[in-house]
Formats: sequence, structure tokens, C-alpha cells
Amino acid sequence: MQYDTDNIFAKILRNEIPCNRVYEDDFALAFHDIAPQAPVHVLVIPKGEYISFDDFSSTAPAEEIAGFYRAVQKVAIQLGLREGGYRVLTNIGAHAHQVVMHYHLHLFAGCDLGSMVKKGLN
Ligand code: 5GP
Repeated sequence: MQYDTDNIFAKILRNEIPCNRVYEDDFALAFHDIAPQAPVHVLVIPKGEYISFDDFSSTAPAEEIAGFYRAVQKVAIQLGLREGGYRVLTNIGAHAHQVVMHYHLHLFAGCDLGSMVKKGLN
């Protein structure tokens, strides 16, 4: 699959559409999800053109990988999530219902987040 430079997160990175920004550095941008599924629902995306976790992990330079994950942790600290705990999740491909084809992590927090996956899957 080819990276689509017109995906919605690419447009956010280019400031072509607005976002509710939480954090930004050389490696990552974090912003509130437009349709939050928890009291805190923030998306963290790398600045480079990567389709998914799979693509990012296999093709990004080590400096970008380290910078991105450090940024994710800084976001969690900035939002005060460490005390109550939080969940980091990424969807990859069809079975996981990945909708936006620019790699992103979801940060969920602010309540009891329940079980990790839908009940009855195993
Ligand atoms: P996925 O299913 O690809 O892991 O999740 C994509 C996420 O992006 C969804 O939670 C959706 O609500 C969010 N989203 C889609 N379009 C926009 C947008 O234009 N702005 C923001 N902030 N979030 C978006």
C-alpha cells in the first residue's frame, strides 16, 4: 500500500485542517480525537509519512522511532495521566478497523477503561 498524502492526518500536519493541539515536537504531533471514546482521547502521530505501526516500525530511522515514543510519554505526563493510568492503542489494518492511514497511537484515560478487547473473541 502506498502512503496517501491526502489522508486527514497529513492535512492536519500541513495545517490544512485544524486540530485541538496538545503537544508538538520534531517527531510527533498530539491532538484531541474529534470523536472521543473516553474522557481523555488523544491521538499522537509521527511527523513522517508512515501508514501504520507496521510501516513505521520497519521503515523509520531509529532516531524517529525513539523520538516518537519519547514524545508519546511526554504527552502522558503533560496530561497528568500517569497517576490514574491510561491505555495506548493502535489499529493496524482491516481486522483492527484502522480508518486513517497515517500511523497514530490513541491515548485513552480519565475513567475505568474496561477490558482490553471485545468480550467473547476467544
Ligand atoms: P483509527 O480507527 O484509524 O485507529 O482511528 C482514527 C481516529 O481518528 C478516530 O478515533 C477518529 O475519531 C479520529 N479522527 C478522524 N478524523 C479526524 C479529524 O479530522 N480530526 C481529529 N482530531 N480526529 C479525527
